[in-house]
Amino acid sequence: MNILERLDLNSINAGSWSGGTPIQTNDGKLIESINPTTGELIGSVKNTTTEEYEQILTAAQEAFLEWRQIPAPVRGDAIRRVGAALRENKDALGSLVSLEMGKIKAEGDGEVQEMIDMADLAVGQSRMLYGMTTHSERPMHRMYEQWHPLGLVGIISAFNFPVAVWSWNAFIATICGNVSIWKPSPKTPLCGVAVQKICNQALKDQGLPDIFHLINDESNILSQKLVDDRRIDLLSFTGSCEVGKKVGKNVAARMGKYLLELGGNNAIIVDESANFDITVPGIVFGSVGTAGQRCTTTRRVLVHESRFTELKEKLVHAYQQIPIGDPLDQKTLMGPLIDEKSVQNVEAAVNKVRESGGEILCGGERVGSKGHFISPIIATAENEWDIVQDETFGPLLYLIPCKSLDDAIAKQNDVKQGLSSAIFTNNLQNAERFLSNLGSDCGIANVNIGTSGAEIGGAFGGEKETGGGREAGSDSWKAYMRRQTNTINWSSELPLAQGVNFAV
Ligand code: NAD
Repeated sequence: MNILERLDLNSINAGSWSGGTPIQTNDGKLIESINPTTGELIGSVKNTTTEEYEQILTAAQEAFLEWRQIPAPVRGDAIRRVGAALRENKDALGSLVSLEMGKIKAEGDGEVQEMIDMADLAVGQSRMLYGMTTHSERPMHRMYEQWHPLGLVGIISAFNFPVAVWSWNAFIATICGNVSIWKPSPKTPLCGVAVQKICNQALKDQGLPDIFHLINDESNILSQKLVDDRRIDLLSFTGSCEVGKKVGKNVAARMGKYLLELGGNNAIIVDESANFDITVPGIVFGSVGTAGQRCTTTRRVLVHESRFTELKEKLVHAYQQIPIGDPLDQKTLMGPLIDEKSVQNVEAAVNKVRESGGEILCGGERVGSKGHFISPIIATAENEWDIVQDETFGPLLYLIPCKSLDDAIAKQNDVKQGLSSAIFTNNLQNAERFLSNLGSDCGIANVNIGTSGAEIGGAFGGEKETGGGREAGSDSWKAYMRRQTNTINWSSELPLAQGVNFAV
């Protein structure tokens, strides 16, 4: 059986789903899923029509009226079933992620594992939606905070994490009592349909309302409609800073809630004491993993000038050993970029580096006669160059010399984005300085670990133009609920706060 058959996908799939039920009012236009490894068609998914969109919004609203009445631990049990179904389908779904997105199989499987981990976290969290109690200033009064569901959560996701990002949002939104509507990237539409089918099959026969909904939209007309839609209580957007800024502005204009997970420009600082046995693999995984198409990809290395040459030689050597090719081949460590435009963007960035005075130390050649392959690039650069300030979404790494730790930290922070950061050091004072409020300004700051590959237990997200949102673990669940403060008077008097006397 091929991958599509294993996941019960057809060559043409419905693009609109209310729970496990496909909705088809007419023949919507087709979104073609193209294999980035070969440039060939894998299958197609229908665009959601405006009529289908309305049907799904209405169904989601109705489902919420039921779902909010179900106790949170029972909602958690629904996600437990979903996690079990993902465990069963991990190999097939991981392979589809590799086939459609182009990340290597180990990373495709890793993405599904992240969904499973999120399901486990959500099950536990469903019994821990804690509110705090506090002491009222008035006698015989009780005061506490509690958390209620929001309603409908819209999830718009990027192509590079075609399954996991949905689960970060949907599983936590679900245990919090919400119903979600997903609009995946039109570059990875089959992953969206496959996930929809697996997760709803798991809920079948439980008599639960349809909590997961799916729409597909290539033109972004319906995506904008979702952003502007007052029925969407929280819009969670993952994607580029450019689109995210517009999304944030439009949701704010209707006073809606939003959660933004946008681009990064992540750096690793390498000081005089760094152990290169872990530094070099840490940088290579961070910069070449997922062919440089992670939001947390290492884009800049800020290395102390005393170790610049040694690190440069080791990195160039490592880059030249990287097997590039079919992501489903176990030996491959770097697959293709998502499409031809992405390859051209990287090539244009390389030209800009040269024009700015940088040296291309290795990489930048097209690989193979088909698909969207380019060999990974290391270039010397200056931090303030315009091209270095932008996120080029591919395997392009800048090597930047620094005079001191203060110089490196200043450069690390001197970009618009604030997602992930790291330092490789054996110096305790340097590590602590980097983590202190005098150090990294990013949402994620690591010591002797690269910038990518976060665990789901911590809150994930970044500052500045990365958008400020937090997803996954810690107390990120609070973004999916509304807070209510309650004060109960159990006396037979009516004392007012702040001692105000209002006797009538
Ligand atoms: P993108 O911004 O092009 O698209 C993201 C999503 O937005 C897609 O589903 C797209 O169809 C949709 N979209 C496009 N225009 C829209 C509009 N006007 N209104 C509403 N939706 C619209 O990003 P991409 O190329 O798919 O993904 C790469 C980017 O995502 C990178 O910048 C990367 O850093 C970022 N990213 C961030 C995180 C994070 O957690 N911080 C995670 C993954 C990816």
